[in-house]
Amino acid sequence: MKILPPTDEAILFAADALRSGELIGLPTETVYGIAADAANQDAILKTFSLKGRPAENPLIVHVSSLVNAEPLVSAIPESARRLAKTFWPGPLTLVLPKSSKVPNVVTGGLDTVAIRVPRHPVALAILEAAGMALTAPSANPFMGLSPTRADHIAPDVLAGLACVVDGGPCDVGVESTVVDCSGDLVSILRPGGVSRAMIEIMLGEPVLTSAESERRSPGMYRRHYSPKTPLRLVEKLGPFDAGVGFDAPLNSRQIQLPLNPQQYARHLYESFYTLDQMARLELLVESPPKGAEWEAVWDRLKKAVG
Ligand code: AMP
Ligand code: MG
Repeated sequence: MKILPPTDEAILFAADALRSGELIGLPTETVYGIAADAANQDAILKTFSLKGRPAENPLIVHVSSLVNAEPLVSAIPESARRLAKTFWPGPLTLVLPKSSKVPNVVTGGLDTVAIRVPRHPVALAILEAAGMALTAPSANPFMGLSPTRADHIAPDVLAGLACVVDGGPCDVGVESTVVDCSGDLVSILRPGGVSRAMIEIMLGEPVLTSAESERRSPGMYRRHYSPKTPLRLVEKLGPFDAGVGFDAPLNSRQIQLPLNPQQYARHLYESFYTLDQMARLELLVESPPKGAEWEAVWDRLKKAVG
């Protein structure tokens, strides 16, 4: 069995595999990732090919602490340092000017690198045991649904991994917030697990969404995070519809999600996964509220619809 319970032996096995240039399945608080040694070019190339991910779509480098991030960057502006001290470990990724320690294949040729410290205890234990920085894009084929449970990793992806360490269901459930700190202005390239409001409170000023985020952040495709079944947003689910809503289900192909943005995000991909197994012609999603706290959820829903 490739999916291992999170024992000390499993963590050492995963760390050994990483040191030998293999890929492993890593639980994080956001989604499950495909981890590889960030300094090993062959391992990075294997990651791109396993996901079918275009080479210009840069990977996020995961480290166990701010201290371990320092060698990977050429500067840490004051704003980035404050964000890191507040939100690491956690679902916040900082884009910073890269150092020569980061291979160009990791960043798709950009002169910046995206870095985060995850807070999942198993991810931290594997980072510590491996003693290296790890790239860890989500463990799904390109554009597909990110797995939030070990057993949601697609068989084709699983086949390319030495093991998956099972850390249980992910508690954030959507990807990290990506914040660009490499220029004069701090901007959000992708909403995610840390809300804009929390970042603004910390920095004491409004933070822009980069109008250029599609150019600055080459992975921001219009379609992404999609279940296999076509998806459509609606006001309300009807009695015969399959999909995700806020009220009590009207049939066995409806899933009720909480009217709370964090809890909704936690269960969103999992519910798409479950509904995808029912192979319907179409899945419907009741539109969530428009408030700022729902920004990350709306981002994922719009991209999942494509
Ligand atoms: P993920 O899909 O969670 O692996 O996150 C990777 C995404 O982070 C990429 O698709 C980019 O949009 C963004 N990203 C990674 N590295 C950079 C970078 N150096 N500059 C800007 N955005 C980046
Ligand atoms: Mg992804």
